[in-house]
Amino acid sequence: MRDPYSGRREDMVDRLKERGVLRTPKVIEAMQKVPRHLFVPRGMRESAYYDTPLGIGSGQTISAPHMVGMMLEYLEFHEGQKVLEVGGGSGYHAALAGHIVGPSGHVYSVERIPSLARRAIRNLEAGGLSDRVDVLLGDGSEGVPDHAPYDRIFITCAAPEIPPPLMEELDDGGKLLIPLGSRYYQDLIMLEKQGDQIRRRSLGGCVFVPLIGKYGFS
Ligand code: SAM
Repeated sequence: MRDPYSGRREDMVDRLKERGVLRTPKVIEAMQKVPRHLFVPRGMRESAYYDTPLGIGSGQTISAPHMVGMMLEYLEFHEGQKVLEVGGGSGYHAALAGHIVGPSGHVYSVERIPSLARRAIRNLEAGGLSDRVDVLLGDGSEGVPDHAPYDRIFITCAAPEIPPPLMEELDDGGKLLIPLGSRYYQDLIMLEKQGDQIRRRSLGGCVFVPLIGKYGFS
């Protein structure tokens, strides 16, 4: 069946390429293929391809496409990687990661709000990525030891500190991306683990909803 939103999705991707946000073929392909309109509430589909965050219920948001694209570029995913996302929300970001790591990779996406986790599962089914992404319910700040270690970990909510379990679950050579700061404003921080060494880079300011949990805000 023809996708009535494919033209708008192409335009969104073209604008993000022109702005230098999207650079690598795999990320570009994922954003061209994964239908963002199926991850937003039905009444918001017409706005799905504007570069803006949108409400997804329970006071939470799906991040703006430029932020999602930037994070995917910074994480430098490869096929076959095992990925952990904390803050599953709509499932869109996890779907894109799943598209990039391919059938030999896997994404575990943790969400603390049950209604959002249930909807993310349905969205992923509708988007055709449910075989690459498992949505788990819980406090992602406590990590997901059952499937550790992870090649990539990304947190899509604002944390006051780096949750120690997530650092432990990052594989040697792995990358972890996290918005770190207050409830209202954060720095996007990249951590790269090389043996006992952790390389830390600040990638600029951002605003995310808070991580609520043991190593988050109360
Ligand atoms: N990545 C999502 C997407 O593609 O739609 C957007 C994520 S939204 C900006 C942040 C999400 O983090 C919210 O859905 C929120 O409920 C969730 N969250 C907050 N604290 C959490 C925690 N401790 N564990 C798991 N999810 C959490």
